[in-house]
Amino acid sequence: MKKVTLIMAFLFILGSLNAQQILIRNANVFDGKSEQLQYGVDVLVEGNLIKQIGKDIKANRRTQIIEANGLTLMPGLIDAHVHLSLNMNFLGMFYQQPDYLAAIALEEAKNTLMRGFTSVRDTGGEVLGIKLAIDQGHAIGPRIWAAGAGICMTGGHADLRPQAQRPRQLGGPVYTDGEYNGIAVIADGVPEVLSAARLQMRKGSAFIKMFTSGAVSGMYDPLDIGEFSFDEIKAAADEAKRWNTYLAVHSYNEKGTRLALEAGAMSIEHANLMTEETMKLLVEKGAFLSTQTGVYFSDAPENWSEESKMKHDKARDGIDNLFKLAKKYNAKITIGSDYVDNAEQKKGQSFELSNRLKWWTAPEILKQATSGNAEILYFSGPRNPYPGKLGLIETDALADILLVKGDPTKDLTLFHDSENNIQLIMKDGKIYKNTINN
Ligand SMILES: [Zn+2]
Repeated sequence: MKKVTLIMAFLFILGSLNAQQILIRNANVFDGKSEQLQYGVDVLVEGNLIKQIGKDIKANRRTQIIEANGLTLMPGLIDAHVHLSLNMNFLGMFYQQPDYLAAIALEEAKNTLMRGFTSVRDTGGEVLGIKLAIDQGHAIGPRIWAAGAGICMTGGHADLRPQAQRPRQLGGPVYTDGEYNGIAVIADGVPEVLSAARLQMRKGSAFIKMFTSGAVSGMYDPLDIGEFSFDEIKAAADEAKRWNTYLAVHSYNEKGTRLALEAGAMSIEHANLMTEETMKLLVEKGAFLSTQTGVYFSDAPENWSEESKMKHDKARDGIDNLFKLAKKYNAKITIGSDYVDNAEQKKGQSFELSNRLKWWTAPEILKQATSGNAEILYFSGPRNPYPGKLGLIETDALADILLVKGDPTKDLTLFHDSENNIQLIMKDGKIYKNTINN
């Protein structure tokens, strides 16, 4: 018995000697929760976890040392609403080969990580193959919590079929163009909704996404309409629960948002036109408010119709009221970017933080973009592909770490120039960028 214990102790010591260690010395730490930095702190990473945080941590012979020299060490940023696979005009996507679209999405995944976003929640699109390639080390990108294709009713927000296309019931294609590209799956009635939801879970999605209201950029749906019936939304919410995860819905207006919350949706994406009564319901249900600003603050794309441009302005004007209500009722708010057009536009991802300074302080926004956004990732329960603590600098948290020039608790605009100001990017204990001159 004694011998076995000795052998086990030996193997344990051998194991810890073999685990790769990286010691970051003399950093000012933003831990994802406290609004104050801790100055002159060392952080030891072992394998993919943060092992120790403190002063004068001892290294062994093989530990890689990085001298932070007063740079700020913080958790990797989290974007709670992206579409990595949507990088051009939706209709343009239909003319492209899937492998071409995947190649562009992989480039965008790398750009996202290089902007300091180590985790993203992908709220619609063909990304599960990309996620697998990144997770297996074939490509570079963030951790991805994916919804797969969003569930959309005929004529709903993501129904991008040309007017002249015959529906499948009348001999049209079995798959719509949107389904072929994995943007959305068209479903009408409870059985089709169930089938569409199960199809996404079968692909390995972390949650289910559905469109329950008119939107800004849709081809057929006015901003004022609710999409799907109560029974259809409830079927998707129940199916998500059956898989021990949750339903997220795209909804702008009161009708779509209220019905979705009553039917069991646990995240409302956008919600720009939400009323006070519905905000109270959201908080009562414990649901998330998944918000964006940059897509509305920038001008609507020129190729949009006049009607879409008007809808865009209406959605933008709703943000002030939405944020005031969210603060008043202390809603579980997340930060996302939601850019879908091109790589140039997606560079604005980092502006999503500073855009919110009219409503929150810099430390509050930083917390929302790290430990706050992590809460919705955990909400996938057993369907969370990366179990572990995220958005935090604390012992046993996953080692997703940035070292940045300056103090982000005072200046969020430093992320605008991520190329120069983010000097080190680590995801899962692995360094993807290091421009610190030691
Ligand atoms: Zn979106």
